[in-house]
Amino acid sequence: MSEITNLTSQMQKQLPAELVSFMQVAGKIARSQGQSLYLVGGVVRDLLLERTNLDLDLVVEGSAINLAHQLLPICPGKIITHSRFNTAKLQWSKWSVDLATARSETYTKPGALPVVTPGSLESDLSRRDFTINTMAIRLTPSHYGELIDLYRGVYDLTQKLICVLHEKSFIDDATRIWRGLRYEQRLNFHLEETTLQLLKRDIPMLDTISGDRIRHEVELVLKEEFPEKVLHRAEELGVLKWLYPSLRGNGWLTEKFGQARQLSHPTLPSVGLYLALLAYHLTDEETEQFMAKLRLPKSLAHTLRDTASRKAKLGSLAAPKLPPSGIYRLLYGYSPQALTASLIASDSPIARQHIQLFLDKLRYIKPALTGDDLKRIGIAPGPRIKEILKLLHEARLDGKVKSKRGEEEMVGGWVD
Ligand code: ATP
Ligand code: MG
Repeated sequence: MSEITNLTSQMQKQLPAELVSFMQVAGKIARSQGQSLYLVGGVVRDLLLERTNLDLDLVVEGSAINLAHQLLPICPGKIITHSRFNTAKLQWSKWSVDLATARSETYTKPGALPVVTPGSLESDLSRRDFTINTMAIRLTPSHYGELIDLYRGVYDLTQKLICVLHEKSFIDDATRIWRGLRYEQRLNFHLEETTLQLLKRDIPMLDTISGDRIRHEVELVLKEEFPEKVLHRAEELGVLKWLYPSLRGNGWLTEKFGQARQLSHPTLPSVGLYLALLAYHLTDEETEQFMAKLRLPKSLAHTLRDTASRKAKLGSLAAPKLPPSGIYRLLYGYSPQALTASLIASDSPIARQHIQLFLDKLRYIKPALTGDDLKRIGIAPGPRIKEILKLLHEARLDGKVKSKRGEEEMVGGWVD
């Protein structure tokens, strides 16, 4: 008989006391309803690895939505339910916990979403992606803290291996290819040998995944601490070219992603900034195809298009004697995110300086006089006002005038 591992003390040590007591009481309440409750998936993996993870995923053999309502007294807040899969999200104070009904899944067609039916914990664990994500902890009072490890997840954790549960795993759901690469690079693990062969064999199955689901995977990659590691590995294994043939996960990208992090510190770079850098060397036509494939939402598409069209102006922007008003003219109207991408990606130190100057200073500079001021001074309403404001703006940018008074004198000189 295999020995029973109990993780009660790890849970106490690594999780906030409020969440631990929530789970203890939730286990009791579930029990009183004749249901069994488990902590599952990533958080169990991370407990064993001693990595911080506060995303609690609970699975109940019974009904998640019913149980969620019973739990309300111990987590007074919001319940968001999805009746189709019988899942619930509990949100209270600063916590958020996902509660799912144990389910089994059948894949009718590769890449399509599975047909879901209620099931046991075992069937729920058997549909999961990798052995290290199949472990569960019992929360039922008499068995509280006991580890359930049906697929040798602990062994694979100690061997640092990413291993699928069966040989059709990537065919059923090719997003697992990207998931596998993410875990491998995040945890510094290795794809287990057979898993690696299956992954390579099934790369073409990525074509069965919808643009929306692929984009979701790409976003998850770009939210990793070091996305370039995943992209590099994806190129090495031939996965990246499935995203778009001319993308590269090379040394250039590693350097630029690193700079993006420095510039964005203390927050992480946005998905848009990373994506603009990833797509930086694509031609305009390729960028359009890439965006269509990922079905990028408008704001991200805008960033990528802006970055591409700014790249086309790089030559003029690298002119050493360019006055601030000239820099302004070349950069005005582009999204700050696209400009930051250009700043990082550009090879010309002068162009970089110019973009930095624009982002730090020039974009905020405006003339002090307004159209109304000009009318008051006696300038007749009409196109002339707009022209004068533009000239004033340029003079301000180029430091030829520094005060409202100065501007008035300047206008006076032009009008006389
Ligand atoms: P992360 O730390 O990235 O959040 P996680 O393991 O919590 O990792 P989630 O994407 O939050 O991953 O999913 C929760 C669990 O659901 C996973 O641990 C895994 O068991 C299962 N899972 C998620 N996506 C899939 C999938 N495409 N195929 C099979 N199982 C999956
Ligand atoms: Mg998670």
